[in-house]
Amino acid sequence: MEIGSVGVVGAGQMGNGIAHVLALAGYEVLLNDISEEALSKALALIERNLDRQVSREKISQTDRDAAVGRIRTTTTLTDLGKCDLIIEAATERETVKQAIFEDLLPHLQPHTILTSNTSSISITRLASRTDRPEKFMGFHFMNPVPVMQLVELIRGIATDEPTYRTLLGVVERLGKTPASAEDFPAFIVNRILMPMINEAVYTLYEGVGSVQSIDRSLKLGANHPMGPLELADFIGLDTCLAIMNVLHDGLADTKYRPCPLLVKYVEAGWLGRKTQRGFYDYRGETPVPTR
Ligand code: NAD
Repeated sequence: MEIGSVGVVGAGQMGNGIAHVLALAGYEVLLNDISEEALSKALALIERNLDRQVSREKISQTDRDAAVGRIRTTTTLTDLGKCDLIIEAATERETVKQAIFEDLLPHLQPHTILTSNTSSISITRLASRTDRPEKFMGFHFMNPVPVMQLVELIRGIATDEPTYRTLLGVVERLGKTPASAEDFPAFIVNRILMPMINEAVYTLYEGVGSVQSIDRSLKLGANHPMGPLELADFIGLDTCLAIMNVLHDGLADTKYRPCPLLVKYVEAGWLGRKTQRGFYDYRGETPVPTR
């Protein structure tokens, strides 16, 4: 199936990046959020990021202007009903995602494909509550979307082959690389990455190392481009905690229990870069460790 228009639900860190790469690849994008402020921030950020690509000569000014022209925004979810493909990228909470799909269903065209950018929630379960589980898939972009090459493709138990092939085609048109994962908690990337981040928080919680020494150790000792606590702040500590909870509940293994210190940061509203404070404080010139 040929996709022309894409509805993106959620204009946060991921939604704005997804809208950016889709528009640049020639798709008509309708970006939705419950917050008008999130939509205007997302548009401003997309324009800034496209400008950076122009100044680095990665894209032309004409491409940039055409991409901006292909993005429209709306706070009315049902406006997305006309789109060929929906990518849900709202907050990592199952009740939020389920309500979005429920509200959208009566307004969709029969051929519309539904996808979720969820980092961890069961695709099969989300799909089973819709009228089209065979046209439902996990479409997992990485952060920051314009930079990261991978897209994880997750088939639910009912996903059919034409849907999978259509999404493979979208990944190809975006110039990205797919990896297929089975539908088990947190799929591949976060099944491996998140327990490492959680272990780094335990290492801090138990006083084995400071924020700085933990991040320095993994950067210089394991050649990771970012330390695990820096990366947690980048992802969002609420998202990290939500993924650990899905792993813990879904696999029923105590090795996935979220660190109480991670819970405390989330309780404080210190969610990382997006709230200016997490394992580092980002309010000044340079990030300062908060422990
Ligand atoms: P975020 O907190 O930056 O943004 C979430 C956005 O969703 C907010 O703007 C919020 O207003 C909006 N939202 C909440 N409820 C909504 C609703 N009912 N309708 C429309 N919009 C709604 O979160 P994010 O980091 O962009 O994560 C979004 C999704 O992407 C999550 O499922 C997350 O697991 C996944 N993801 C995140 C990362 C990452 O590194 N942050 C990477 C890959 C996937």
